[in-house]
Amino acid sequence: MNLQASQRSHELYARARQLMPGGVNSPVRAMGSIGREPVFVERAEGCEIVDVDGNRYVDWVSSWGPLIAGHAHPRVVEAVTEAAARGTSYGAATPGEVELAAEVCARVPSAEMVRMTSSGTEAAMSAVRLARAATGRDTVLKFAGAYHGHVDGLLAEAGSGLATQGLPASPGVTDAQAADTVVVPWNDRAAVERAVAERPLGALLCEPCPANMGLVAPAEGFLAFLREIADDSGALLVFDEVISGFRIARGGAQEREGVMPDLTVLGKVIGGGLPAAAYAGPRALMERVAPAGDVYQAGTLSGNPLAVAAGLATLELLDDDAYARLERTTAELANGLREAAADARVAVQVPHTTGLLTVFFSDAPITSYEEARGCDLEAHAAFCRALLERGVYPPPSQFEAWFPSLAHGDEALERTIDAAREAFEAL
Ligand SMILES: *Cc1c(COP(=O)(O)O)cnc(C)c1O
Repeated sequence: MNLQASQRSHELYARARQLMPGGVNSPVRAMGSIGREPVFVERAEGCEIVDVDGNRYVDWVSSWGPLIAGHAHPRVVEAVTEAAARGTSYGAATPGEVELAAEVCARVPSAEMVRMTSSGTEAAMSAVRLARAATGRDTVLKFAGAYHGHVDGLLAEAGSGLATQGLPASPGVTDAQAADTVVVPWNDRAAVERAVAERPLGALLCEPCPANMGLVAPAEGFLAFLREIADDSGALLVFDEVISGFRIARGGAQEREGVMPDLTVLGKVIGGGLPAAAYAGPRALMERVAPAGDVYQAGTLSGNPLAVAAGLATLELLDDDAYARLERTTAELANGLREAAADARVAVQVPHTTGLLTVFFSDAPITSYEEARGCDLEAHAAFCRALLERGVYPPPSQFEAWFPSLAHGDEALERTIDAAREAFEAL
């Protein structure tokens, strides 16, 4: 790394490591898995981040998904500023929450009622609690490489930062919590059938468009298969659409794939860059949640007025034209990266869908977490370092997705593909 060009980040990192574990507040930010020091960000606008040393980057992380409209979008900033001037939190009901709940129900096909939380972790944890209460069954099935936040029982073989660290679960998770989770490989029907036959399951939990082991699409018919086997076995089907929701389509993966879950977990885009998430489902199920029902769940900052304002302003920007643009941008980026790799004779797979893509360093398509872990992680790390040196900020882990936004235009694409061409050639 060019120390001159990153002097202030370097100094801040040294200080941060004395004050915060690993110098960061969320593991992947440390960039350890790509063998370099983290970037300390000073500000950002549109699709560009500026670090504390004045380096500018085309940002493809987009805060890991929330910033589908780009950084500091004027409409979002205005909405948050206006809300802040009216008070930042009341711990009481507000009109904005009603509006946002209506907006979510209008977009997400299976949602009739919504409960907001402050993080996707809380929303996933609460949806699982509700599924257990509704079915009277404790065991939850999840897929290897899927990430549902840092919920104790769901950390087993989780993707995202956990995959990056190479930890199968985490110390501090009790055996009992781990025992309530069954983990099976993604896209593996026989494994799901065996798990369902072995014991009664309360929930089949999945990312319907997994992006935390890198982007690994469901095999043809796999989601419909999950719907069917959930129905046959009395388990609830829970879609964690924290990433896919409002991103891969207006109504998320469930709308695009035409498979309806019983419960949906939402996050990231719903808060427009502020802390907000939610779980949603049909009235009969959601009315089990307190105070309508007996399943307890609460939050001091749930439905926070600033987060609700940012979420509403962001969703307002997401019309049909926006999704068409996002689809085009993602396809052009994917094609450009594929071509650049091919010209440099580097074997990569670049699966993409609207608003998401991953550059897997593999000569065969990736269909599972096991295959994702078999990628050339060294080459991926070198690629990421080379991009950062050339003013492009990719997700610094093989087990994550790139997040194109509405702020990425032709110039950003060109800068990125030019940098990628050089980065592939340097490998
Ligand atoms: C990010 C993420 C979560 C966790 O959300 P946080 O807001 O980070 O707690 C849960 N599920 C999926 C699919 C995610 O990508």
